[in-house]
Amino acid sequence: MRRLALALLVAPSLALAQRGGRGGPPQPITVHSTHVLDGRGADLGEATITVENGKISRVDRGAPATPATYELGSATVMPGIIDAHVHLNWYFNRQGRYHSGNDGDTPAQSLLAYLENGHATLLGGVTTIQSPGAAIDSLMREWYAAGTLPGPRMLTSLNPISPNLTTPDSVLRAQVRQRKAQGADLIKIFASASIREGGTPTVTAAQMNALCGEANALGLRTIVHAHSSESVRMSILAGCTQIEHGVFTTDADLKLMAEKGTYFDPQICLVFQNYLDNRAKYEGIGNFNEVGFKSLQDAMPLAAAMYARAVKTPGVKIVFGTDAVAGAHGHNLDEMVCRVKAGQTPMDAIVSATSRGAEALRLGNEIGSILPGYAADLVAVTGNPLNDITSMKRVQFVMRGGRVYRNDKP
Ligand SMILES: [Zn+2]
Repeated sequence: MRRLALALLVAPSLALAQRGGRGGPPQPITVHSTHVLDGRGADLGEATITVENGKISRVDRGAPATPATYELGSATVMPGIIDAHVHLNWYFNRQGRYHSGNDGDTPAQSLLAYLENGHATLLGGVTTIQSPGAAIDSLMREWYAAGTLPGPRMLTSLNPISPNLTTPDSVLRAQVRQRKAQGADLIKIFASASIREGGTPTVTAAQMNALCGEANALGLRTIVHAHSSESVRMSILAGCTQIEHGVFTTDADLKLMAEKGTYFDPQICLVFQNYLDNRAKYEGIGNFNEVGFKSLQDAMPLAAAMYARAVKTPGVKIVFGTDAVAGAHGHNLDEMVCRVKAGQTPMDAIVSATSRGAEALRLGNEIGSILPGYAADLVAVTGNPLNDITSMKRVQFVMRGGRVYRNDKP
């Protein structure tokens, strides 16, 4: 059901309320454009959005009675983008190489690089990210939530769980409980090898049942790194919440996802292209070798073809996640351009990155829609992405929680 609210409003949820709002204007802020998309599939046309205390308080069709605080002309306004898979802690070090543990960077230098990535991500139109994940994320999550540093709202798995085939189920269940105790918003599980190593399963069905079963019992979501069909299928059947990557997903697996309501977050270009474009910065570190780069190159057409099948499979809940790593931060929306070129409609691509992305994070009543009561996370792009998806790469305005971080003249 579309709740096209033309006036007030819904009991405000306090979960995402801004702390303090240092320097924020006390009076309502208005944002006007001749082209507003609500994030749920409706094109509202000309509309004026009123923002109070970090939340949307009204959405009115047409122009405002007095000039809007932010007059965005014919830019297309939509909810802030939600990226379900970002690694802010991946960066290029002072030598221009991918940062790895023993390169001499101090923790302070690393933290500054993470924050730089978070800032680039926000300015690129992404107002919420999910990180799968690193222990350091808990600090950034806290600072970004306070609104004292410019960055996206952040959810994190903290360190992922990477079983090997002999890890006992009891140990895996204990690891899930430990992550919850450490403050994880979700659990990230590796169920297959990297695509650079063939993507074959690294867990048993019983282990997946233990991990996702334990997480479900605790009310925690699970996202699973899985490339091979076998690992994808195991994850769906174990009741895991979301599958990542899934390059070798078959039509039967897609049908099973639709039946079980599993969210699917396949990446088809940004992450691959970024590694290839930055090859010299990664080459020789870990599995970034000749074979690894060949696998990445080979995976791109496979991933695009799989995506084309996924968007045609009724009921598959595709969300937008980029797997942004060093070199890709701030370019997240390049991935959306590829997804539309692979066959997704522009409107569905936008919905997948807004209201459906929010629903997958279990924040569907708080973010991802332009409706009264929702967080005032708004993005505007120059042009009309429904006609030309490359407009998504021309972000000109970013508001998060009612505060404006970017307002370029087009
Ligand atoms: Zn990843």
